[in-house]
Amino acid sequence: MEFSKEEIEAIIADMPTPSRKMATVRWVDEIRPIEGADAIELVILGGWQVVVKKGEFFAGLPCVYLEIDSWVPTEIAPFLSKGHEPREYEGVKGERLKTIRLRKQLSQGLVLPLSVLGDKWDEFFTEGQDVSEILGVVKYEKPLPANMRGNARRYFPNFIQKTDQERVQNRLRTLEAREDDEEYELTLKLDGSSTTFYHYNGDTGVCSRNLELKTDESNVGNVFVDKFHELGISDKLKALGRNIAIQGELWGTGINGNWEKVDGIYFHVFDVFDCDRYCYLRADERYAIVNALGLAHAPILGSGTLASLGVGDLRIESFLAVADRPSIFNKIAEGVVFKSLKDPNFTFKVINNRFLEKGGDE
Ligand code: AMP
Ligand code: MN
Repeated sequence: MEFSKEEIEAIIADMPTPSRKMATVRWVDEIRPIEGADAIELVILGGWQVVVKKGEFFAGLPCVYLEIDSWVPTEIAPFLSKGHEPREYEGVKGERLKTIRLRKQLSQGLVLPLSVLGDKWDEFFTEGQDVSEILGVVKYEKPLPANMRGNARRYFPNFIQKTDQERVQNRLRTLEAREDDEEYELTLKLDGSSTTFYHYNGDTGVCSRNLELKTDESNVGNVFVDKFHELGISDKLKALGRNIAIQGELWGTGINGNWEKVDGIYFHVFDVFDCDRYCYLRADERYAIVNALGLAHAPILGSGTLASLGVGDLRIESFLAVADRPSIFNKIAEGVVFKSLKDPNFTFKVINNRFLEKGGDE
């Protein structure tokens, strides 16, 4: 089936642009006291909880919520740099939000009063509205080390969707509206670096998270390009002849802290993107292609309804319990990813809080 240009644009506009919404307008769901603490309390927003100063927020109050891994400019939250010089990321002074624990309570992200939006606050008054841009908040991404950066051929090609997963904490409300009998594939989230191999109208290539890399001698020693050659991707994809992108995690020695502490570099597929239809393939189609190409798939932990996968109800704790498990070689997994079987564009990740607290980088 072919789509018209207009249809493709409509599909793209409709697709989730997950982690780009780092700062959103939200209504406080609940305030919870912290035992033995008189100066602080918990704000609950969707699946998130944040420790705040007591008395500044209350249930029903609109506020601005900044997710973990937000890069927060000093101007909007100078207190984050108390006691030290602000850090710098992409030319902006500020701080990165990480998972922390205060008085034994998990605290993830930052809640700010609506007044941080200035006198235009009433233009931003829709639940879930993205205010990242006007606040200058961006997603922090760890810069790639030298063996991973490489020479770019161009930006990430526009006929492929970038890999990204929405967090379950932001999906709870959507999940309530979906059918109970919807089935999901559950895979292990591997902690490495996102990699895309593609074939498009006779051309093949390899991309890191945000760039396509040259595959010539100038990139010998680059881990993405080396793997592309080692797996014989170009010939295999040309032989298959479909306009598709194989997306997976490259993990192991020298990559993102090597959480699994393994020797060697591995590639595991978690998605196959159909460039002609601009959508992800269903799990069964993906497995067939992975087999045909002789590649390895990310560990599949199960498939079925949420209940059958161990998520008994739609509370955040129920999802987090499933993510709190060992990975391949580490006692603590980074997390898990749920993908709807009938709607492969509906996916979300559940990051293990024990991974975040150990300082793991998603
Ligand atoms: P994050 O690392 O927090 O940006 O989460 C999204 C990323 O998880 C994707 O871009 C992938 O690179 C990575 N990932 C690792 N394992 C999986 C998996 N099983 N399914 C989907 N994405 C995965
Ligand atoms: Mn990651």
